[in-house]
Amino acid sequence: MNTDKKIIIALDGFSSSGKSTMAKALARRIGYRYVDTGAMYRAVTLWAMEHSLVDTGGNVNAEALAEALPSIEIGFTIMPDGTQHTTLGGADVERRIRSMEVSSNVSAVAAIPAVRHALVAMQQAFGKEKGIVMDGRDIGTTVFPDAELKIFLNASAQTRARRRWNELRAKGEEVTFEEVLENVEKRDNIDRTRRESPLRRADDAIDLDNSSMTIEEQDRWLTDRFNETLARL
Ligand code: C5P
Repeated sequence: MNTDKKIIIALDGFSSSGKSTMAKALARRIGYRYVDTGAMYRAVTLWAMEHSLVDTGGNVNAEALAEALPSIEIGFTIMPDGTQHTTLGGADVERRIRSMEVSSNVSAVAAIPAVRHALVAMQQAFGKEKGIVMDGRDIGTTVFPDAELKIFLNASAQTRARRRWNELRAKGEEVTFEEVLENVEKRDNIDRTRRESPLRRADDAIDLDNSSMTIEEQDRWLTDRFNETLARL
């Protein structure tokens, strides 16, 4: 097996399908960089909300946002405990980008072509040296169509909403299960039907439905796919 060779691993799938949990664990295990592209769309959304570019009906001022894009500084910082936090203009926004308000507006922001072009270019730059695990909606189709390993993750909407609800409640956010389920389904629908790089399974992706898998089982499954891919190179 050629273990010196670095590859690109693309994990795509529906909202809260467990992509980031799997991607982070694999990246840690194999010493690759992990990039959460959803966090980048969330950070742009938070910026737009803070600059009054999203109205109460969820309409986004796409033109003004497109103009401001070059000045929006998105970054990642590694915390002392090894976790990765998203930054906006240098400030840690990890907690704020996960709020229900941002979740409610992010798919509208992510459907704006100028936003996608800017973030896809940044994501491609991150992957120049390979050795990267990236999760999102269009990684295997648009960002890295030549990725050596592509996974498409799915789980039932109920399972995904329950996971997200548990996460939000653990953070102290007061939200009902129905609100979370509605948000998950709405985001999936916008993500799947937008014009610009919609959520779509790449033809050469490997499917995984992890609805009834434990975290250990899904981690083992992904490590096996990684080892198989390296063995083929
Ligand atoms: O992965 P996460 O649920 O945090 O992503 C938030 C939103 O960002 C998604 O619902 C989707 O609208 C958008 N997104 C995207 N393309 C990506 C990653 C996320 O459109 N590559």
